Amino acid sequence: MKKAAFFDRDGTLIKDVSYLSCISDVELLPGAIDLCLRLQAENYLLFVVTNQSGIGRGLLDHDFVEKTHQYLGRLFADNGVVFTQFYYCPHHPSQNCLCRKPSPGMLAQASREHNLDLTRSLMFGDRESDVRAGVTAGCKSFYITKVLENL
Ligand SMILES: [Mg+2]
Ligand SMILES: [Zn+2]
Repeated sequence: MKKAAFFDRDGTLIKDVSYLSCISDVELLPGAIDLCLRLQAENYLLFVVTNQSGIGRGLLDHDFVEKTHQYLGRLFADNGVVFTQFYYCPHHPSQNCLCRKPSPGMLAQASREHNLDLTRSLMFGDRESDVRAGVTAGCKSFYITKVLENL
């Protein structure tokens, strides 16, 4: 089984602009590339797991979120970082889905689809919901600011 490093997207890899709706607003956060490179060198598969309730709220559509992830994938690839897959929850919080963090659904899905050992995997995020999703999934989980302070 492989080990994974899961990343929240907004506020962790890129600046959180609250319902990103324009690709030109994508801004990499300092340290994100370096952290990804280090984890990749330690044989972690990299994944993004992001709540995109803007879809459920009618502010964004699937096509935009998928285009954003293709763009982000290229941006990271230009810096030598390969994300294995991007997962996103499109639901409104009132839908009580199983994928919206702090539920661990996206991590569990990635584990099934990519044969991951979650107990050897890591989760990085900027909010408590990220850390709770990671812990519930069985991953060691970290607030990104604390990790970057210590890089
Ligand atoms: Mg975030
Ligand atoms: Zn969901």
